[in-house]
Amino acid sequence: MAEQMYAYKCTRCGRLHHPAYLVCRQCGNRQFEAVPLEGEATLLTFTRVYNLPEGYMKPWLAFGIVEFPNGLRVTGQIDSEDINVGMKLKATVGIVKEGVNQDYYGFIFMKAK
Ligand SMILES: [Zn+2]
Repeated sequence: MAEQMYAYKCTRCGRLHHPAYLVCRQCGNRQFEAVPLEGEATLLTFTRVYNLPEGYMKPWLAFGIVEFPNGLRVTGQIDSEDINVGMKLKATVGIVKEGVNQDYYGFIFMKAK
């Protein structure tokens, strides 16, 4: 399992995308190169979802929009009890859904230490 989150950079105009797009949102090009999304991201906004579908073992999940140092904004799940706008987060791989017999892993934002 690759534990690195990537942005997808248009080879023509340089615009960063996440997740991957088939066509560049700025220039229509179809060629991209993967660029590691590194560094601490800043939480811009978030919400908690309490009415989860059947099968979730938590009372709520938090989702937010973060901004990486390169300016790219990414949405994702946040794993923290204490969430505040402006906090620093890092992209990691974690359990995005706990199952009865199987946990599901995905990218998740955790508090930067
Ligand atoms: Zn482009």
